[in-house]
Amino acid sequence: MDEDDIDPDELSYEELIALGEMVGAESKGISEAEISKHLNPLTCQSTTNLLIDRCVICQVEYEEGEKIVTLQCDHPYHSDCITQWLQIKKICPVCGKEVSTAEMANPSNLN
Ligand SMILES: [Zn+2]
Ligand SMILES: [Zn+2]
Repeated sequence: MDEDDIDPDELSYEELIALGEMVGAESKGISEAEISKHLNPLTCQSTTNLLIDRCVICQVEYEEGEKIVTLQCDHPYHSDCITQWLQIKKICPVCGKEVSTAEMANPSNLN
């Protein structure tokens, strides 16, 4: 048994995230074209309708009428901010949910 080998199946999600942070930006993200498929465009009507009233990446509060995007987990971001982020790491910065291609086929998003 070689105990130096890391088996991803035996790591918890948190450990995987920590591992990803240690490894750094080494191709953990996804391409810009891929990212755009995961962003749901939204016009900010009122920040009270949002899970979070600001973009956690740049820490700027949203304004009424501002065009923003949400991820599958409904967390809102500036399009530019989250696009840059996801090119580095394909998880939601707020909840850590992975932006996975497989789940995009989910028809319950259509309402
Ligand atoms: Zn931002
Ligand atoms: Zn999220």
